[in-house]
Parts: sequence; structure tokens; C-alpha cells
Amino acid sequence: VIVTQQGERELQLVLTDEEFAAFKRAQDLLAHVVRNGDPAVVVARALAHYATHLEKRRFGAKEGKSENKRVPRGRHVPAALRRAVAERDEHCCSFVSADGHRCGETRGLQIDHITPLAHGGETTEDNLRLLCAQHNRHEAAKRIGVDEVAAKREANERARVHERAAKQREERLARERAVAASHVTTDPGSPTGDADTEAAEFAAARVRARRQSDIDTVAALRWMGISLDEAQLAAERTKDLADGPTGKRVMVARRFCSTRFGRKQDFRRKPDDARSASAPAGANDHAA
Ligand SMILES: [Zn+2]
Repeated sequence: VIVTQQGERELQLVLTDEEFAAFKRAQDLLAHVVRNGDPAVVVARALAHYATHLEKRRFGAKEGKSENKRVPRGRHVPAALRRAVAERDEHCCSFVSADGHRCGETRGLQIDHITPLAHGGETTEDNLRLLCAQHNRHEAAKRIGVDEVAAKREANERARVHERAAKQREERLARERAVAASHVTTDPGSPTGDADTEAAEFAAARVRARRQSDIDTVAALRWMGISLDEAQLAAERTKDLADGPTGKRVMVARRFCSTRFGRKQDFRRKPDDARSASAPAGANDHAA
């Protein structure tokens, strides 16, 4: 029913439960753009999209080009995969608390890599899930904790290698002293060979650990929404901390980002949220 009233159009809809559920879904998915959930804006957007879809179909435009079968690289999640994950997770946050309660939030949902890309995770349905913004942050913070544990393990490993090298050096010195004491110079092979190998092993382990620290730091900053360039710059500036726990380095690097770019220390908003500032001005307070 269309009523014209002072040049404005009013549309009244009678919806079945199923149709209303579809409307609610669209409203929730638009929550980051249409904050007050204005039904007129939601319906207008839906109609604009549907009209475009019908036009494409009529004029033979290819609807949803064939998705590549190979696993996509990088952070981008193809639309078909996003849909599959959203449907599997029933369009709500999939976080389950320790006591078995599922969050179920339907607003501000984000696609999350369960095993982060930086840790070898892939962009596959099995490695993706829906999380609300709060639980996405929660999981990211938890991972930084995990990184810290990994860093400690690396530090212990380094200490062991170091200890072993020192012990072998001592043994070699003792052997050399014994040889010198007995004035016997029968010396098969190179006496310094073992220690050289140990030293090289130690140096290689240190280089590997530092490189991993670089990767983990950049990954953690990327998780907080910081751009690759900024994250790499921040990692470069915190190089001195590469031998310490990654969690501490990430904190310093994040502070570096926030002071350099004048950002709050809190996680940055996703680009999606930033767009809400330019939400269509056509929104009015009409109820549909
Ligand atoms: Zn949640």
C-alpha cells in the first residue's frame, strides 16, 4: 500500500515469519552501516540490490563468476566461501565459552582464520569461522599469549644449545690441557671441529628465532588491524627485542604504531566500520 503524504512515500508490508526473519538477517548484517536499523534503509538497500540482480540476469551478465578451486592465498576470503562459512555457523558468532555456551551474537560479525595465516593457516572452510568483534579481539589476545609461550620455549631451546656448546668447549679445553700436560701431540683431526659446529648451530638457531619473532610480531599487529607497512616498520623499530618474549615486543611495537600514527592503543576498527560515517543520507525515520 503506497500512501503519498507531503510528497513522501509510505510503504506498509505484511510479512510472514520467514520473510520477517530474512529482513532481520539483512538488518543485522547491515548493523555496522545502518546503526539505528531503520527498516526503510534496509528495505531500500535490499530492493536496489535485487533490482541490480534481476537486471544482470535479464541482460545475461555473469552472476557469480566461477570461483577458483585452488585455495586462495592471503587474507581475502572469496564471497562464496564467506557465504558457506556464514551458513554453516548459522549467521552468528561461533565462539563457545569454557562452560559450553555459544555466544550467538548476530551483529558485527567477522570472518576469522582459526589458525592464523602467519602460522600456516589456510583460507579454507575448515579454517574459517564467524566471530563477533568482541570475540575476535578475545581470540587475538589469546594468540598473543600463545606466542609468548612459544617465545619462552624458543628461549629455553636457545639456552640449552648455549649450555651444550659451553660444555663441549670446556671438555675440549680439558682435553687440550690433558694433552699439553702429557706432552703428547698425537692429535687426530681438528680439535676445534665440535665447538665450531656447536657455535654455528647456536648462531643458526638464534637467526631462526629472531626471524620467527619478526613474523609473529607483524602477524599480531596485522591482527589488530594495523597495515602491513606500519606493522613491518614497527617490527623493524623493535628489532632489539627480538630475543625476548614476542608478547612484550608486540606491546612495544603497538605503542610505536599508536604514537607514530596518533592512534588509540585499542584495536583499530575494521574498514567496514569506518564506512558507516558515510552511510547513505537518504535515511529517514520512516517505518516500513
Ligand atoms: Zn561472540
